[in-house]
Amino acid sequence: MTENKVILVTGGSRGIGENIVKELAKQGHKVILNYNKSEEKAKKIKKELEIDNYQIEIFRADVTKREEVSNMIKFCIKTFGKIDVLINNAGISQIKMFTDITNEDWENMIQTNLTSCFYTIQEALKYMINEKNGCIINISSIWGTIGGSCEVHYSAAKAGLQGMTKALAKELGPSNIRVNCIAPGIIDTDMNSKLNEQDIENIKEEIPLEKIGKPENITCCVKWLIEDEYTTGQTIQINGGWAV
Ligand code: NDP
Repeated sequence: MTENKVILVTGGSRGIGENIVKELAKQGHKVILNYNKSEEKAKKIKKELEIDNYQIEIFRADVTKREEVSNMIKFCIKTFGKIDVLINNAGISQIKMFTDITNEDWENMIQTNLTSCFYTIQEALKYMINEKNGCIINISSIWGTIGGSCEVHYSAAKAGLQGMTKALAKELGPSNIRVNCIAPGIIDTDMNSKLNEQDIENIKEEIPLEKIGKPENITCCVKWLIEDEYTTGQTIQINGGWAV
């Protein structure tokens, strides 16, 4: 088992983030769950984990707002004295023809899925660089790697995250800070709740492993990236073979 770390997970109230929070807390890490709108869910997760004496705090911050992100990192330092791992998981998606995307849709997508990571990483680095230690994991998407039709703004933001990861890995390597990306395929969460049964069946037919992923498939990789000390600048594809 790895040494206990202080880990911040953005968008930890639901889906993939929720699973990451729960599993890392159960490994003995000190976890801060960031949420924005799902306050009741965040409180419920904290309560559940605290019954078993796991260490968890929750913090509401809209990751698209620099000041709220800055306050969240300060809270992390005040509460646990440091930040070892930052997991940029918060995100939104939208399915729309490129010609129908409005300025507002575009801004919202880039702000939530890409600019938010500029904010969280810059704020976290204020502490990580001094420590000469850190691990940053960005949750991108298969569409950031191969492009998704009717998700151009989402694909652009997630591709941006992959570029940011590579560049940061080079810049931060000498400070002993590792930066990696995970690019999930389709994972069973609220994000895909608009897909009907037939849509899901059609997608399964395109996936060599013939199934939809689960949040724990992503958590498994997150745990490994936290533990391994020689991987940086990578985008790890977890998609059942959907894009090979
Ligand atoms: P969900 O829709 O289930 O959950 C999204 C999470 O992001 C929620 O916890 C939500 O918090 C949080 N969030 C959204 N906007 C903000 C914001 N402005 N500030 C803070 N938190 C915010 O999504 P998933 O769990 O499916 O997705 C997690 C990540 O994985 C995303 O980055 C997504 O793009 C990526 N991904 C998902 C795939 C999938 O098939 N599910 C495939 C590929 C990538 P709250 O409810 O509290 O507002």
